Amino acid sequence: MAWAVAASSGGGARCGAGVQRGGALGSSRRLGSDLRTLWSRVAGNRSSIGSGSEGGTGGGRGISGGGVAHRGLATCAASPRSGAAAAAEPTGPRVCILGGGFGGLYTAVKLESLMWPRGTKPRVTLIDQSERFSFKPLLYEVLSGAASEAEVAPPFAQLLAPYPVAFVQGRVASVQQDDAAQDGSSAGGGVVVLADGASVPYDWLVVSLGAETSTFGIPGVRQCALPFSTYQDAQRVNDRLAVLEQALSYPEVVVVGGGYAGVELAAAVADRLKGRARVKLVTSGRDILEGSPQGNRETARRVLQDQGVSILTGAQVTEMRLAGSSSNGGGDSADGSSGVKDLAKRLVYLRDSEGQQEILEADLVLWSAGQAPVSRPGAAAVEERAGPALPFATNARGALQTDPTLRALHHSRVFALGDIAVSSGGREQPALPATAQVAFQQADYVAWNVWASINNKPLLNFSYQHLGDMMSLGAASGAVTLPIPVPPPLSAAASGSGPLGTLLRAAGVKLSGSYGGASDGVTLDGPLAAAVRRAAYLYRQPTLEQQVRVAGGWAKQLTSVLAAAAGRPTQR
Ligand SMILES: Cc1cc2nc3c(=O)[nH]c(=O)nc-3n(C[C@H](O)[C@H](O)[C@H](O)COP(=O)(O)OP(=O)(O)OC[C@H]3O[C@@H](n4cnc5c(N)ncnc54)[C@H](O)[C@@H]3O)c2cc1C
Repeated sequence: MAWAVAASSGGGARCGAGVQRGGALGSSRRLGSDLRTLWSRVAGNRSSIGSGSEGGTGGGRGISGGGVAHRGLATCAASPRSGAAAAAEPTGPRVCILGGGFGGLYTAVKLESLMWPRGTKPRVTLIDQSERFSFKPLLYEVLSGAASEAEVAPPFAQLLAPYPVAFVQGRVASVQQDDAAQDGSSAGGGVVVLADGASVPYDWLVVSLGAETSTFGIPGVRQCALPFSTYQDAQRVNDRLAVLEQALSYPEVVVVGGGYAGVELAAAVADRLKGRARVKLVTSGRDILEGSPQGNRETARRVLQDQGVSILTGAQVTEMRLAGSSSNGGGDSADGSSGVKDLAKRLVYLRDSEGQQEILEADLVLWSAGQAPVSRPGAAAVEERAGPALPFATNARGALQTDPTLRALHHSRVFALGDIAVSSGGREQPALPATAQVAFQQADYVAWNVWASINNKPLLNFSYQHLGDMMSLGAASGAVTLPIPVPPPLSAAASGSGPLGTLLRAAGVKLSGSYGGASDGVTLDGPLAAAVRRAAYLYRQPTLEQQVRVAGGWAKQLTSVLAAAAGRPTQR
């Protein structure tokens, strides 16, 4: 176990169906060239929808309601519509999307932006257990207060209001294929069964239920540590920090996990508690951010050091306990935050590769060490919560296996994407990371391939384009690495002591001669990186309407800041 960087001071079913007001997404954002070409032919936008399209996205071309009749479900409330508009309501196949994250929500919105031949426009239903979408990369901003709830976790009902997509809030318990053959394969539709017994029939299915925190069965983790994976988790951590800030003069916080999530979380906590707490970051790896661009790793190390975060590498968590308890508290609290024990010390048992043990004491332990597909085997036994029973082929991690077109193996009308899926076959491709970047790029392809499948057209193989790596390091700092090739003479000039080098360094810009190896193209850090990251997330908002809302919120914030600086009262 190696301490490093140590600084002296111290990581039911509810339906809401909208009335269509018009398509939101432009037709060809972030697509590979093959998809881009096809997209431009079929994707609708306000001006390009032809009269032959049904439901489409045509400017004011009638209202098409999202009232999808579900077996066993209350029909979603749709807004009143005229007889003519009701007549234009789509009667095409039923597409059911499981999970409203970066994979599912973005697929739903993209499906609505396509132009559908008459009679084929599908009735889209999105099912999620939560009433809100979680823009997970912005969860750290919940701790700093730098982003509002409307930005980080907007309600699905609001996001989908402009689209004829039926939203059903419910927990998916299982999927049953109508025509499952003996070998498990299917070519038709089926039924999604929710935990409350309701069922939603489908003709085409999109599975994007994501991943969730996994404790890997390590004793006491569920009872002693808080996860940080959903908006609810972030709110709970925020509340707990507020309690600690009130109750203790110098709390100790341990963050477990040396990947992006752990590093960003440790930086967010240290930034919030600024010198009033000891923050430790624990990783089983030999370094933090292993496998990440060197520029991001260096920046993260420097910022964590400045913040006084201690980093412990090569340390495997073997158990956690509440201090004063001979057991790990199993059964007392399922989420590490039971009221009475809020201020009880947590003991984190560590072991290094040579078998040496160390015990850390903490007032708060945050667990960012593992995510696993919600469909993984044995989840119920380990995490005390059953995942959905899905009749599709999975790998050893429980991820749904897909072909290169993102179709579930042996099921011609089922697609899977995002953190729950793994693509197999086709070209030799390294395993894709579980990121939002992968999920929303896949959403474009899944939407297209559902269109193609319904319309008997050829499907496209998914092709991933890496757009760079971004991380937050506290409220006003970050690191961004962009895979932009930099000619060696330019990178030499940028690292020299001439005016260009001085200017770029002052701005937090570093240019490296190549991308993909030890040097990584263009690296930004500090406030510039933080600003670029927020701008990128504005661009990545799921709908145009949400982009406008978020930008409006920023404008208000900026006005308040400027008014405060000028000593004027602000209008709320
Ligand atoms: C703290 C954090 C920070 C991150 N930062 C970044 C980043 O900066 N950049 C990046 O690219 N990626 C980031 N990621 C990863 C990224 O968020 C995920 O890869 C991405 O969300 C995957 O999209 P998805 O659609 O597969 O799953 P999700 O976005 O997780 O969506 C899955 C949805 O399914 C729902 N669901 C799950 N089970 C059920 C069920 N049984 N019934 C009904 N609904 C269910 C969930 O409520 C959820 O809405 C971050 C992740 C975390 C946790």
